[in-house]
Amino acid sequence: MLHVFGHKSPDTDSICSAIAYAYLKNVIGEEAKAFRLGEINNETKLVLEKFEMDAPPLLESAADKDVVLVDHNEFDQSADDIEQANIVEVVDHHKIKFGWDRPIYFLTVPAGSTATIIANKFFQKGVKMPENIAGILLSAILSDTVIFKSPTTTSEDKEMARKLAEIAGVENMEAWGIEMFKAKSALSEKSARDLIYNDYKVYEFAGKRVLIDQLEVVDGEEVLSRKDEIMEEMKKVKEEEGFFAVLVLVTDIMKEGSTALLVADDVEPFEKAFNVKFENGQAWLEGVMSRKKQVVPPLETVFGE
Ligand code: MG
Ligand code: MG
Ligand code: MG
Repeated sequence: MLHVFGHKSPDTDSICSAIAYAYLKNVIGEEAKAFRLGEINNETKLVLEKFEMDAPPLLESAADKDVVLVDHNEFDQSADDIEQANIVEVVDHHKIKFGWDRPIYFLTVPAGSTATIIANKFFQKGVKMPENIAGILLSAILSDTVIFKSPTTTSEDKEMARKLAEIAGVENMEAWGIEMFKAKSALSEKSARDLIYNDYKVYEFAGKRVLIDQLEVVDGEEVLSRKDEIMEEMKKVKEEEGFFAVLVLVTDIMKEGSTALLVADDVEPFEKAFNVKFENGQAWLEGVMSRKKQVVPPLETVFGE
């Protein structure tokens, strides 16, 4: 049986793409089941409730299992024992940082979400899509593209979203998107530690490990009023895990930019990458909505890979 899962600290795209892809696999005669690598966030919870679907079970171990990775291809973002798994396929929309000792199916498309690629597979194969699958795939597109505001958005994302909305019976995509992001913004009950690990990824820049977390919110001020507490905790996480830096992006989807909070051994590469000055560990990054397109590439350039 194929175990289909997205990245750790799962987002809506990772969960919904895994569910939809496992569904498609079963329809075309390959036994598959969706899993998750972490807790479901508030946004994804709302999406699954709305379209009446259960969250996939937690994958305890990937070792010796046949696995399909969706929405990621870097081992740092995958199951801890991913190298002991039998990876048979990858479907993703991130930069390729992958090597394997056997030929596998490896599909990457520079789309705004993995859900866009999966939706397209249904249409190409002529597989009839249930309303709830269309609903969760649509939601994943809206989530990853920040309701089409992110510079990662492509015309294919919009085209797929339109088709999916029709099947799912979602009349106002924008309104549903805002409702989702409001759920995602409900962070007040979260501890500072949980905020840092809310939607995090660990990257390696020239051997330096950097944790980059993103909080996509409707109102940035709510989180920033807890800045001191969050920065204190970022320092602890950095020490404990031996990171070179911990960067938290508070992305304000209405103002269309991000406040960066940074604790680092050296702030300079970050100032250079984003062309800003950090004051008390804080800087405003105008227009920055996408970690993968606007944050990671300039850091790679500055650090040198
Ligand atoms: Mg993702
Ligand atoms: Mg994605
Ligand atoms: Mg995201």
